[in-house]
Parts: sequence; structure tokens; C-alpha cells
Amino acid sequence: MKKKAFAVLQTLVDFIFPRNCLGCESFLKFYEKHLCISCQIKMPLTSFHLIRENPLYEKINVQFESTAVTSLFFFQKEGAIAHMIHLFKYKGERKIGVFLGEWLANTLQESAFFKDIDGIVPVPLHPKKQKKRGYNQAEIVGATLSKKMGVPLYTEVLERIKNTTALALLGESARKNEVTNAFIQQQPFPTAPQHVLLIDDVLTTGATLAACASVLLKNSGLKISIAVLACRL
Ligand SMILES: [Zn+2]
Repeated sequence: MKKKAFAVLQTLVDFIFPRNCLGCESFLKFYEKHLCISCQIKMPLTSFHLIRENPLYEKINVQFESTAVTSLFFFQKEGAIAHMIHLFKYKGERKIGVFLGEWLANTLQESAFFKDIDGIVPVPLHPKKQKKRGYNQAEIVGATLSKKMGVPLYTEVLERIKNTTALALLGESARKNEVTNAFIQQQPFPTAPQHVLLIDDVLTTGATLAACASVLLKNSGLKISIAVLACRL
């Protein structure tokens, strides 16, 4: 009965304030969120959560020893994924981050490699950048995963002390130089986790995640895995 009432109400709200699909701009049905069903099934999912030694795992493991690595989507310059990440990161659309975070959490729950995760650490923004943006996008994804997986979120453990700018414009070695020593562990974990999941929005070279991992790996015996919304291979 509740479901029926929701359907009627959402259909009515959609009639007055139509919602558009972020992929194809068609009007969304009451049961669709941000993407129409047809765009959802066309999204470039990696399914890396099902294959331990996937290309992203290999890309990361030449930089540091990680346990498992996955990305929800392959990044595509044009199309829904770029549009959604842009809105989420730069236009204040936090609910898109929650939507994508829930999608990512569902895939992690299907995987055998993320079952013993007992802590989530989002890649921090420099405090100045976070103040300007009003939020840290990786933290929104991390908080969504934390809620869905029932695992603590640690936002105060890592701190970004170097305000790196425009990483997207730099090449691989310049990026690496830019993020080296950009992070510190500003406080110990309140309860020592065994297997931490590091979260970021987009993985390009992996240099930022490797810089975070090199700090966290000083906690002896800690295993680190990675999950991001989208990756460039
Ligand atoms: Zn669509």
C-alpha cells in the first residue's frame, strides 16, 4: 500500500516538476532515480569487484601492495558518467554521490574480496579546498558505503597538508611529484582496523591513492583496498 502511495505521489510530483535522466534527458518514471532504466543498463560497469587481478589492481600494485581494487565504472569523457561526476564534484549535487555510492556498495557486497573491510577512509581534500567546495566528494561516497556496509568511516585520520592544484592537467610523473608528501596521518585510528577501504571519486594514475596508502601502511599489519566511482585505465 505504501509503495502504491509513493508511486502515485511521485507520479504527481513528476507531472508538476518533471525530472530528467542525466544520461539522455528523457523524463524519468516514478521508480527511476537520476538515470532512466535504459541509460542504467548502458552504463560502463567494470565488474572489477568480481576479478581480483584486474587491470586496475595491476596498475595500483606496481605502486604499493593493495589487497583488492575496484571501480564502479570506466570513465568516459562524454556521456552520463562524466556528467554525473561533474555535477557531484563541482555543482553541489551531493545526492548524485549518494546514488553512485549506494550502487558501488551493492557491487562490493557481491564481492568476496571486500568482506572483511573494517574501516573506510576517504581521500581528504585540503582544508582550503574543502571550505571552498563545502564538502569532500570522497567523504560523501565513503559515508554512503559506511552506512550500507555497517563499517566505521574515518575522516580525521588522514590530512591533506599540500593544496595540490589541477592534477588533471598534469602528466603521470608530474602528478606523482605533486602528491608526494601531500598527506599525513594526523591522528591514530580510534580502534585499529585490519583492512581499510580507501575511497576516491576518480582514479587516473593512482598517484593520489598511493600517496595516501604510503602513510596508512605505517600502521603495522594494515591491509589496504581501493574503491572508486570511475577509473581511466
Ligand atoms: Zn536515459
